[in-house]
Amino acid sequence: MSKPINVTRSSMPGFEEYCEEIRDLWESRWLTNMGAKHQELKKQLEEYQQVEHVTLFTNGHIALETAIEAMDFPEVSEVITTPFTFASTTHAISRNGLVPVFCDVDEDFYCMDPQKIEALITEKTVAIVPVHVYGNMCDDDAIEAIAKKHHLKVIYDAAHAFGAAYKGRSAGALGDASMFSFHATKVFNTIEGGAVCTGDGEMTRRMEDLRNFGFHTPEDGWYAGGNGKMSEFQAAMGLCNMRHLKGEIARRGAAVKRYRERLLGVPGIKLCPEQKDVTPNYAYFPVVFDGYKYDRNQVFELLKAEGIVARKYFYPLINGFACYKDLPTAGEEKTPVARHLAEHVLTLPLFADLTVEDVDRICDIILK
Ligand SMILES: *Cc1c(COP(=O)(O)O)cnc(C)c1O
Repeated sequence: MSKPINVTRSSMPGFEEYCEEIRDLWESRWLTNMGAKHQELKKQLEEYQQVEHVTLFTNGHIALETAIEAMDFPEVSEVITTPFTFASTTHAISRNGLVPVFCDVDEDFYCMDPQKIEALITEKTVAIVPVHVYGNMCDDDAIEAIAKKHHLKVIYDAAHAFGAAYKGRSAGALGDASMFSFHATKVFNTIEGGAVCTGDGEMTRRMEDLRNFGFHTPEDGWYAGGNGKMSEFQAAMGLCNMRHLKGEIARRGAAVKRYRERLLGVPGIKLCPEQKDVTPNYAYFPVVFDGYKYDRNQVFELLKAEGIVARKYFYPLINGFACYKDLPTAGEEKTPVARHLAEHVLTLPLFADLTVEDVDRICDIILK
């Protein structure tokens, strides 16, 4: 059998480059707690994202949970979000004592459908948490207009969107705050890691306290905080990966171009249209099998038999999870577009090292 291909493969610098980056840590013996690497990465990301404040975390989930916590909403307030996402988005809302309200997604880009938001707003609604699914950018203009009209906060789950931009604005610059994940499988990684971008200095100050046990000063605890600090080894990986980011995104783009050449226009196979006004980061390559000679699960099995791992991402929908079944808006049937997607979508392998030959092998299996 030809070599196996996983759905993803982490971007890494050369071994020597990482060793060089962490060398000073053996002198400083400063391994975590906002050391020099942490500060340097924060500064670089503020420049790259063109935002005033970047707060670094040990993972993306804690970043999102802390961002929502720092907004200090009254308990049992409602937060409108999407069921077509990774469980982390919904859990971050729920673990803050807030009530997730599920909004359906649009048919082209699989992001929250702005036309369906207003019907879900009640007097308890305090925020919208949309997700830039697969690196497709949400319709920020429409979402911001609704948020402004109803005095709601917008906190983006931008875990998939690092390196992408909407109308020339980086993903981190949208909404009241945006969260990135720097998990090993994401376009840019710090092994595990995450960040919140915002222009709000007071919110940033609260997040900084919350991620460090709630200490405001070494002798003064203002909050019952947790531990969400990014370590120096994580930040060092980020500093290395930032040097190669542009090239890695370009190589992902080349693989996507080949996928599109092979699969676009095949009856029963649906690809996302290219987004107007968006600079893509080529995070994932979702394909919808609807009326094709093989259904989604058959394509998954065909690929698996050849050592190729695709992913039913996102399946199942979060509004069908046992832990959310008692919510007023639970139930996959209430979000029919998302439900249809979850049953028909497959994300194909995509990473910087994926060659055109690999893509051809995958497409040959799907098209045979
Ligand atoms: C990866 C991911 C997260 C969580 O990030 P971690 O860094 O793994 O904690 C949250 N939301 C979405 C959409 C993700 O893909």
